[in-house]
Amino acid sequence: MTDYDVVIIGGGAAGLTLSHRMGAVNERRGRPLRTALLEPPVGEHTPPPRTWCFWEPDGGPWDDLLTARWRDLTVVGSGGTEYRSPADPYVYKMLRSADMAAHVRDHADEHLRTRALYVTGLIDGPEHATVHATGPDGTETTLTARWVFDSRPAAMPPGGRTTLLQHFRGWFVRLPRETFDPGSAILMDLRPEQPRTGVAFGYVLPLSSREALVEYTEFGRAALTTAEYEKALTAYCAQAGLGEVEVGATEQGVIPMTDAPFSTRTGRRLFRIGTAGGATRPSTGYTFSGVARQTAAVAEALAADRTPVPPVPYRSRHLTMDAIMLAALDSGRVEGADFFERLFAGNRLGEVLAFLDGTSRLPKELRMGLTTPVAAMTRTTLDHLWHTLRTRVGASGRDAAGADG
Ligand SMILES: Cc1cc2nc3c(=O)[nH]c(=O)nc-3n(C[C@H](O)[C@H](O)[C@H](O)COP(=O)(O)OP(=O)(O)OC[C@H]3O[C@@H](n4cnc5c(N)ncnc54)[C@H](O)[C@@H]3O)c2cc1C
Repeated sequence: MTDYDVVIIGGGAAGLTLSHRMGAVNERRGRPLRTALLEPPVGEHTPPPRTWCFWEPDGGPWDDLLTARWRDLTVVGSGGTEYRSPADPYVYKMLRSADMAAHVRDHADEHLRTRALYVTGLIDGPEHATVHATGPDGTETTLTARWVFDSRPAAMPPGGRTTLLQHFRGWFVRLPRETFDPGSAILMDLRPEQPRTGVAFGYVLPLSSREALVEYTEFGRAALTTAEYEKALTAYCAQAGLGEVEVGATEQGVIPMTDAPFSTRTGRRLFRIGTAGGATRPSTGYTFSGVARQTAAVAEALAADRTPVPPVPYRSRHLTMDAIMLAALDSGRVEGADFFERLFAGNRLGEVLAFLDGTSRLPKELRMGLTTPVAAMTRTTLDHLWHTLRTRVGASGRDAAGADG
């Protein structure tokens, strides 16, 4: 008998979402699954709190916990043209990681146990996996489980052609006067000075008429120093006409954007979820709704007693489009600011959001493609197809040589 049926490593977006789903899994099964959620003891390994933004229609599972929601979104072009429109049928939402963690803890059934353990090693096995971890006082602990879902940040998988970083820093600001419309946010403001390749943008997410999260973001090969982000944020606040701002908390991060293929099964009993399991959309860095789809599939499999392999929550044609877009940005063949301005200017916002979330349909996507810089995207697509073909021919040549030898 194992210690647990399910061990979830990491209480971030993926670990919390899956833990939250376990109550419904147990209700469906009748025979509950004993689950442990492992999060490092409070201290050096505790990640800073963060905010997660995502879009979905009203009535989502976290609606009562949201810090803010916006029905209208604006994209600002590099020359200052504003494209403001309702996000309909979506609402853009912000959830704080601490609020989600508290809610999951408070609503867990008696079969979920949260444990302060820092995982140091995993061993796969035919019947169960073994988890090695250290507790708050440094004592070593060993747990066994039928299934282990690991959301710890992982090394980038091999085989990618383009990997960029979405890197950013944000200020929670307070202004002396009422300035913001709390129902409306700036999703992407392309006025900041653009890097040679990739793209730079700011955004403003109002939390009240006087408070907002203001961020400066780049898609590029290397992150900036904190001093460089501070300079960029100061310049962006001026561009956005915010005047003197009082800066409170800050958030900073790096999200990998890669066309490398993710594998979510790392052993007979071991799986990866979240960013480590390919839940980050390569072209946008958004992860939260991918995590929702991925963990829903895992929960469904656990409820039905099937092997719970997490799916990568994006269609392969979207991953191909993302690989092309990353290559186009990285090579400088496409100017990022021009690409995004055309995309938002030429299409209904709701349709662009559906595409960015991976839920759009092919005919709309093809029409959307015509609003981007077509010649540069076509050249990059041909390049991509040529590269894929060469890689496949190379691989089958090596296979044949291996078989002959
Ligand atoms: C600052 C920031 C803001 C972001 N904002 C958005 C956003 O607005 N929208 C969006 O869609 N995406 C956003 N992302 C991207 C993505 O959604 C987040 O990175 C998200 O947290 C990924 O979820 P995850 O569960 O895969 O990883 P994480 O949330 O990073 O969770 C990993 C967990 O593993 C735990 N852990 C690590 N090592 C160990 C160990 N050895 N033992 C036990 N536990 C361990 C950590 O404590 C952590 O809780 C953001 C990323 C960052 C960095």
